[in-house]
Amino acid sequence: MKRYGTSANSMTRSKARGALSALADVLFPPSCLACGDLIREETGAVCFCTPCGEGLNLLEPPICSICGKSLEGGFREDTQRLCVDCLLRPPFFPRARSMGKYEGPLLEALHLFKYRKNITAGERLAKMMSRWALDLPDLHDFDLVVPVPLHPAKLRKRGFNQSLILARRISQTCSIPLDATILVKVSDGDPQVELGRKERKANVRNRFTLSKGKSASGLKILLIDDVYTTGSTVGECARILLKGGAREAAVLTLARA
Ligand SMILES: [Zn+2]
Ligand SMILES: [Zn+2]
Repeated sequence: MKRYGTSANSMTRSKARGALSALADVLFPPSCLACGDLIREETGAVCFCTPCGEGLNLLEPPICSICGKSLEGGFREDTQRLCVDCLLRPPFFPRARSMGKYEGPLLEALHLFKYRKNITAGERLAKMMSRWALDLPDLHDFDLVVPVPLHPAKLRKRGFNQSLILARRISQTCSIPLDATILVKVSDGDPQVELGRKERKANVRNRFTLSKGKSASGLKILLIDDVYTTGSTVGECARILLKGGAREAAVLTLARA
């Protein structure tokens, strides 16, 4: 796991990568991650051409004050802006926020990154996400950025952890230290994709643990994942971190299903 750490070496490497990607942008203007059209430089956009950028569904209020779910369909004032799920079963995290809905151009871009293994697309999504994260309130309060880990077998198969690529950039942009090894995924059962909410919760139970010798004691932690579906994965990670003494574990994801 050493190559995923935050050593001085990896910081130097990531600076060198940054310089290289800036040079590449001059030589090869970036193309839209959804439709492939060139992105006009004057738009300042990192990931999408103007039409695709306009097609993004960013998550904006009204949203559930805990899990960030859109409350577009309306809500009762006496519920303190909570969705039904958070009202009935408050999650282990006090707050989860996602940049946009997992559909349209954002879905295309995330598939390009995650399934077609386009790391550059991931780095660009990470840049866009970290710009968005900078505008969130209370961000300076966090002690640690922690990506949701992959099981080692999955990591070997995919070659990278998409959440770590997002988390690394957020850590740099927001000046919050990164710890990519504090949480470990110890088992990997059935994929979550096919399961309902209740089954997902049971399916992730005890799949994560704190690394031997690591402590989360007193820390306010920002958990990073690529997609929020029912919140069961990040909820389980938050539970483990709290059990390990963390003061709080809030969640940021790129997309929300
Ligand atoms: Zn486009
Ligand atoms: Zn909610």
